[in-house]
Amino acid sequence: MVLRKVLIVNTGGTLCMVHAERGNPLSPLVPAASWEEIVAGHPILASEILGIEVGYRAVSQLIDSSQMQQEHWQEIARIIAANYEDYSGFVVVHGTDTMCYTASALSFMLENLGKPVILTGSQRPLVEPRSDAAQNLVTSLQLAGGDTFGYPVIPEVCIFFRDYLLRGNRARKLSASGYSGFESPNFPALATAGEHVVVDKKLIRAVPEGRFAANTSLDSRVMVLEIFPGFKPGVLRRLVEEGGAEEDAVRGLILKTYGTGNAPSNRAFLEAVGGVCEQGVVVVNVTQCPQGMVELGLYEASAGLLQRGVVSGVDMTPEAAVCKMMYLLGQGLPTEEVKRVMQMALVGEQSMNIYSVALGGLDDPLPLAGPGAVLPSEIRMDALRSAILRLRGVQSMGPVMAESEVELRLFLNSTEVADSPDVEETHCAAVVRRPTKGGEEFDVVCDVSAASRRLLRPGQMISVAVVSAEGRTVRWRSMHLTLYSDVS
Ligand code: ASP
Repeated sequence: MVLRKVLIVNTGGTLCMVHAERGNPLSPLVPAASWEEIVAGHPILASEILGIEVGYRAVSQLIDSSQMQQEHWQEIARIIAANYEDYSGFVVVHGTDTMCYTASALSFMLENLGKPVILTGSQRPLVEPRSDAAQNLVTSLQLAGGDTFGYPVIPEVCIFFRDYLLRGNRARKLSASGYSGFESPNFPALATAGEHVVVDKKLIRAVPEGRFAANTSLDSRVMVLEIFPGFKPGVLRRLVEEGGAEEDAVRGLILKTYGTGNAPSNRAFLEAVGGVCEQGVVVVNVTQCPQGMVELGLYEASAGLLQRGVVSGVDMTPEAAVCKMMYLLGQGLPTEEVKRVMQMALVGEQSMNIYSVALGGLDDPLPLAGPGAVLPSEIRMDALRSAILRLRGVQSMGPVMAESEVELRLFLNSTEVADSPDVEETHCAAVVRRPTKGGEEFDVVCDVSAASRRLLRPGQMISVAVVSAEGRTVRWRSMHLTLYSDVS
């Protein structure tokens, strides 16, 4: 049998601790001096018993993972890159406290990863009799060894802990001390390890076509803010205020909101968030809930954030959102590009891609199609979950008798809206009724999913027309089409 080669990259953490006084289980735990010392007394970790040829590298200094910094991620990524061709897979031994951050960061940094990188650790050190370390380590090594044991190659950064192999950028540490310490609330486990290890092949990402490279450019000028009832908006303004050293200027803000992305809709809060966006800070909305996703604009309580330039983090974990932001900011992209890519699933970290298309606004009254925009060519219309059109500052004017109702018809990609009934049937995307006094401004949000599936083509021009059934003149200040497409 040809043994697969797996490299252990040791960063430290509890798994590697030993008793200060060797042989005295009551003495304090300290980092071990060598790997031999850690695995002494564990014959199951010998290559011939594991069925894998195990290599070993340690980072320059073994640490408790609470000390992790971006320099450590860069070092891990470089070690993997330097040994990439020589090994079938990698197991990163890591403390549990920040394991989800490291896994998330590596998932973005290790571009076009075609081999397994599995992070593992333990709640008790390997040297202890009741330790959970040996099983975590053995299963991780075997999963990283792949086809020797009949497992598929899992070309992803994962976390293995206790019974589950989780996608690293979906995982969260849920228990400070439980042996089942990690979960992946928004994505199923990639594999379950009981008596048998069962890998769910349909969840595993395909081996990428591009060339593997470790991209170690990161920008950590990122902040996380969890809102709570009573939050004072002025505090946010102070936090990101201009002035001070450029190297300390916040460039990305992860806003942890309620439920499906809701936040206070009072003026002071929205102005504070809007002010942050205007300063060029990328603001991403993720939910405080352990499970579920942000649906920006679904309720009034999140529409204001959307209008001020906040983008959706969909169902990303806060850890993944922080690391994705650091990675994208590190690429030196313009703010608008960071915002655009932030809403795309790069390595399976979120369940949907969001495409926001600004359709512009017009000052002239118009009965027909607006200026339009090109639909991104990469969007897959067969995976379209929904399409939402938001019009801001629509005015209905003209002969209004008394208080009455206005009926707005929205047409997609139509140039002959006015009188053809056929065109109405096929191109009418939505009909919205609302009370009006005439002349006032209002916002319209409508679901145009069905019409989008029918009428929109990737890479082609789209336009929207708004017509009042009563023959009034309609115009809008801004119009956005947001398309939500499932990631396969
Ligand atoms: N504080 C430790 C660490 O994260 C805890 C652990 O390893 O489980 O390094």
